[in-house]
Amino acid sequence: MTIGSESFYTQVTDKIKNWARINSPWAIHFNSGSCNGCDIEILATLTPRYDVERFGIKLQGSPRHADVLIATGPVTFQALERLVRTYEQMPEPKYVIAVGSCALSGGVFDGCYSVVGDLNKVVPVDVYIPGCPPRPEAIIYGVVQLLESLKTGKKAEPIVVPDIVPELVIDEEKNGN
Ligand code: SF4
Repeated sequence: MTIGSESFYTQVTDKIKNWARINSPWAIHFNSGSCNGCDIEILATLTPRYDVERFGIKLQGSPRHADVLIATGPVTFQALERLVRTYEQMPEPKYVIAVGSCALSGGVFDGCYSVVGDLNKVVPVDVYIPGCPPRPEAIIYGVVQLLESLKTGKKAEPIVVPDIVPELVIDEEKNGN
């Protein structure tokens, strides 16, 4: 590869874009039928106590500006069309994080007359975060695992966050809480 060649500039700009993406993932939050328990945990995750801005994560209102779709709940027939439209409006490359047992499997709403099913039936899920609801530490762990996998520049295999997060993001005992 010669400095100044077209492939050199392409590689450099790709690296810069990937670096920027990893260091400033903008996320859109979508409730496709959750009981709101998971949504409250997502909002708690975004508070200064957990400080996700240290990872450059920012909540974004428009899907056109978002890299990551954070979705909660099973997919209901009522939300189906809006969920698909939101996902389609996001620019590539885009990633989906399923938060909570209902998003992973339908949970307590599985088989309900108004429910299509789990999130992966409708959009491709990259990170699965189990729990009813998952704690903010688990949500942060899932996002960080996704960012780590993006360092390769490719979409990795789906990530499953373990029930017990290996390393707590906040050590509550040390913080005296
Ligand atoms: S996983 Fe639990 S808290 Fe989350 S939407 Fe389902 S029932 Fe509610």
